[in-house]
Amino acid sequence: MNHAFPCGTLPLDFVGTLRARRNAAPMEKLATPELLDDWFVESGMLDLAPVANEADLTIARELREAIYDLVAARLEDRPLPAEAVAEVNLQASGLPVTLRLGPDGTTRTGSVSQGLAALARETVEILGGDEGALLRECTRPECTQVYLDRSRGHRREWCAMRTCGNRVKAAAYRARQHSVNS
Ligand SMILES: [Zn+2]
Repeated sequence: MNHAFPCGTLPLDFVGTLRARRNAAPMEKLATPELLDDWFVESGMLDLAPVANEADLTIARELREAIYDLVAARLEDRPLPAEAVAEVNLQASGLPVTLRLGPDGTTRTGSVSQGLAALARETVEILGGDEGALLRECTRPECTQVYLDRSRGHRREWCAMRTCGNRVKAAAYRARQHSVNS
């Protein structure tokens, strides 16, 4: 797997393909069209790679950044930026992913723009619906991953315990040991 899906919803996993956003050099996980193909297949959104090209990659990153701008505005209680709203609405108007029933079950196929349309529509549902209130940013400062906190009591602190949660806990443990020993 080239990509991770910890966020509980695909549009936010997609936003997470630009990692460590506030670092001087964020990590770009969608560096090539092939990595965009992998994202769609690994996410389960499409069964076949959509065979992305460079233009698709540019449009995909535009949608990703528009989703991030909307989520960031929501987290900071600012009005939603009009340009990002227009971008998400435009891409949400695209054709849906094609579903086919066959002897082995369902097959999902489509172009990059069909996949992006699905992500844009899900974004509209999150930001326009009740789940917008569940948006959080991971509390490990370098991470910057955003996710939906669907946990009971809404006390989820990290995008994923396996990565950030354990790192924060290990750092806290080391800090405690250090203060005991010094
Ligand atoms: Zn995290």
